[in-house]
Amino acid sequence: MNLIFLGPPGAGKGTYAKRVVEKYNIPHISTGDIFREAIAKGTELGRKVQDIVNSGNLVPDELTNALVEERLKQDDCKKGFILDGYPRTLNQAQALNEMLKKMGKELDGAIYFEVDEETVVQRISTRRVCSKCGKVYNVITLPSRVEGICDDCGGTLIQRDDDKEDIVRSRYRVYIEKTSPLIEYYKNQNKLFTLDGRKSVEEVMKILFNILGGFEKK
Ligand code: AMP
Repeated sequence: MNLIFLGPPGAGKGTYAKRVVEKYNIPHISTGDIFREAIAKGTELGRKVQDIVNSGNLVPDELTNALVEERLKQDDCKKGFILDGYPRTLNQAQALNEMLKKMGKELDGAIYFEVDEETVVQRISTRRVCSKCGKVYNVITLPSRVEGICDDCGGTLIQRDDDKEDIVRSRYRVYIEKTSPLIEYYKNQNKLFTLDGRKSVEEVMKILFNILGGFEKK
């Protein structure tokens, strides 16, 4: 099952991707996670993208496309993948098309989680992530059992630098300008599935699994 998850920051893409991974056992490829990990480890890639990521702007297409192409070639992608946060520009979407063609793969669907700016700002300002394992929480809708501590690994929960309100608003603007044209792009290819991302996680999951069930039967 070859999927992309589209939608603004804070739409829940990462949360839903993790649930899909549990059920279908396909890799969750989040370009944001890859960049954050590189920054945390201080690798060459990390040093290159650090300022861009922290300011909420987009990493250049060329670099991002090359990174995704390498990742998709790995063995664990043979039975499918979820791309979360990629593609984010028309150039990336076209590059992805070319990559998949070369690999003899086809996209099953672009799942679009639709959420408005105020919901995004409200959700992200209450979002916390584990500094150790990256698990995502929300102090209101998805709190950890013990405040500030990860349920899974005991790590400390922190707020991402780019989750501060002014950066979130600028990430949303970048999303509208650069990424929202992809909705039309995938609609024209009959690949678009739109979900109301303001609904509860359980409601969205139900609809999402229904859609994915349809891909299984293909
Ligand atoms: P995310 O976790 O998906 O919100 O991504 C966090 C940040 O990583 C973004 O604000 C960008 O700076 C960078 N990033 C992630 N994915 C991409 C992409 N496909 N193209 C360019 N930059 C990206």
